[in-house]
Amino acid sequence: MKRIAILGSTGSIGTQALEVIKANPEHFELEVITAHSNADLLIAQALAFKPNAVVIAREDLYEQVQDALQHENIKVYAGTNALCSVVEMGDIDMVLTAMVGYAGLLPTIRAIKAGKQIALANKETLVVAGQLITELARAHGVNIYPVDSEHSAIFQCLAGEFHNPIEKIILTASGGPFRGRTAEELRHVTKAQALKHPNWDMGAKITIDSASLMNKGLEVIEAKWLFGLRNEQIEVVVHPQSIVHSLVQFEDGSLKAQLGLPDMKLPIQYALGYPNRLKSDYPRFSFMDYPQLTFEQPDLKTFRNLQLAYDAMEKGGNMPCILNAANEVAVSAFLKDKIGFLQMSDILESCLAKVAYIAHPSYDDYVDTDREARAAAATVTDK
Ligand code: NAD
Ligand code: MG
Repeated sequence: MKRIAILGSTGSIGTQALEVIKANPEHFELEVITAHSNADLLIAQALAFKPNAVVIAREDLYEQVQDALQHENIKVYAGTNALCSVVEMGDIDMVLTAMVGYAGLLPTIRAIKAGKQIALANKETLVVAGQLITELARAHGVNIYPVDSEHSAIFQCLAGEFHNPIEKIILTASGGPFRGRTAEELRHVTKAQALKHPNWDMGAKITIDSASLMNKGLEVIEAKWLFGLRNEQIEVVVHPQSIVHSLVQFEDGSLKAQLGLPDMKLPIQYALGYPNRLKSDYPRFSFMDYPQLTFEQPDLKTFRNLQLAYDAMEKGGNMPCILNAANEVAVSAFLKDKIGFLQMSDILESCLAKVAYIAHPSYDDYVDTDREARAAAATVTDK
């Protein structure tokens, strides 16, 4: 029986993780759930799953949650500090980080320091501070299990192969809703068009990141840290059907891939259940439904964010942290119709040039860098 805490239980990953837990009561017990502002859903989840504790990040919603759960034996907390300390509770074995953005960094650090195993969906944490997080995990004997479908695919390909060096990995990308478009066409795309992902139903931020290929850029950096790779070992190929979830090439030239229908419940379940494959009744893939699986080069000139991510990874230090912060501000401004689709890349580029470079950042340097990059990005978005 694994006792699980879910940070961000009301989101796309969080709700699917709850489905996995509900379907496997003999394997998982829900200890803690947290949410930013969807108090109604958090309450409904608490009533259904009876966890030990719930946290609502927005303190003004504390009373609502507390009132609704007062007759239950469930502890209710509020605020970002509570979000960080709740992961340290003694009866948690594994923390699923399913919150979005930089806000996941500190709770993840606190969970690792408390010796909790991590199922990592919150890729921004590894983008911002991959070196710090992986060193900390090593020091505390904590494993980080990938939830992202591409990284789960690589991890699954590596099962039984951990002693065999990787030659390279190939991350697949759907290409998003704007695959094949020119920069001129992208200039006028709308938020509604960008939010329509062809294969996956996800939170708003990652859906925009997928449309701009930023998501693949973040995943390249995420893969570097998860699998200890050199930059040149990480390739991206566009695969519009999202069936081949990613590949590993070993030193004998052999390639292994993991395939399946695009359904995040599978990688979530693999991360929570590792090393076991739990029986599931999710729809099965059939070649007859997908007679053609296709592959093409990503267009790095039109989708500049992926190139910018490669560049930031190459420079290292706090560059990926700058990239991430600028991107969070840019995506949020795009979602508020304040800026156009292509302006998001302009903002990333200008922030990467503006914010001071730090080769070996400490935790405090990351905090400062994140703040500076957000301020630099806001000078454009708030104009
Ligand atoms: P989402 O927007 O659907 O949900 C985000 C969750 O985080 C919500 O529960 C929200 O309450 C919580 N949250 C947001 N901001 C917070 C804050 N400042 N403090 C505390 N809680 C906060 O997002 P999602 O699509 O579920 O994605 C979550 C993470 O998983 C992201 O890092 C994303 O990149 C990653 N991921 C998602 C998918 C997917 O299919 N959705 C796939 C791979 C990776
Ligand atoms: Mg992914």
